[in-house]
Amino acid sequence: MAQHFLLSAKARTLSLRSIFAAGEDAAYATFCELRWPETNGEPVCPRCGCLDAYSITSRRKFKCAGCQHQYSVTSGTILASRKMAFVDLLAAVCILVNAAKGISALQLARDLDCQHKTAFVLAHKLREALASEADGAVLNGEVEIDGAYFGGHIRPANLKADRVDRRRAVNQNGKRRVVIALRQRKGRTLTFIGMHEPKGVEIARTVVAKGSTIVADEAAHWDVLPADFATQRINHSEAYSFNGVSTNQVESFFARLRRMVEGQHHHVSPQYLHQYAAHAAWMEDHRRLDNGALAHRVVGLAMAHSVSRNWKGYWQR
Ligand SMILES: [Zn+2]
Repeated sequence: MAQHFLLSAKARTLSLRSIFAAGEDAAYATFCELRWPETNGEPVCPRCGCLDAYSITSRRKFKCAGCQHQYSVTSGTILASRKMAFVDLLAAVCILVNAAKGISALQLARDLDCQHKTAFVLAHKLREALASEADGAVLNGEVEIDGAYFGGHIRPANLKADRVDRRRAVNQNGKRRVVIALRQRKGRTLTFIGMHEPKGVEIARTVVAKGSTIVADEAAHWDVLPADFATQRINHSEAYSFNGVSTNQVESFFARLRRMVEGQHHHVSPQYLHQYAAHAAWMEDHRRLDNGALAHRVVGLAMAHSVSRNWKGYWQR
């Protein structure tokens, strides 16, 4: 029997041991190479594009020979104003990509020996960077669509006599959201957050190319899809897969996200649910890459991503 990819040595190309053994200079060089791939890591002024720079080695900064602007490898990126050592940043990325169901900020803080606040913002910046990989993506071919509800759990009262019908809107707390996922077979997974699953119809019209086939379950709000797409339906009260029709791939994604939210984070704010959903989608789409390639991809995306409006100075507000 063929060995599963994740069990093979090919899946393990990066370790914390190798990151720390190579040290701070090597980690710094990795960030330079991924920030400036077109010059093999030689600095390029972010203000004027000049290739001539004086190196202020002691502070790991550069001074542009053209416009005198001082900058560092992370200036203008989502990791700007970082205080953490590059070796720790690289270790954080390694830990993040090794965690198939994500990692909580508390756990990351213990691994890195940093404050919870630091780990929380760093992980969210990395999630924002990797979500940007799917910006503007359009799906085509065969696309599975489904929604799943997250959050807004109401704890039942202790005494049975005090319990309420938790399905009724008046008894809910307004924190429940639906994650709508569209997963192209042999392609990307895109995620969206809404209050109700029927919103998925509008989303499908914007992110799925004309001429694609959409596979959905029996929920009535998908009944309008055939107006725009070739459509296949699977009735889950009868079968999960019938005559080759299923939404199993998008369900696999939800299994990962469900375990991420409930088993790893335990609680996520509806405000940030989109970041966890995008993180799980990214992990799902790149599940066959080795962890070294994943880490490189995350650092590359972070170095190509501009300063985050959501996360810059988060704790200073
Ligand atoms: Zn310059």
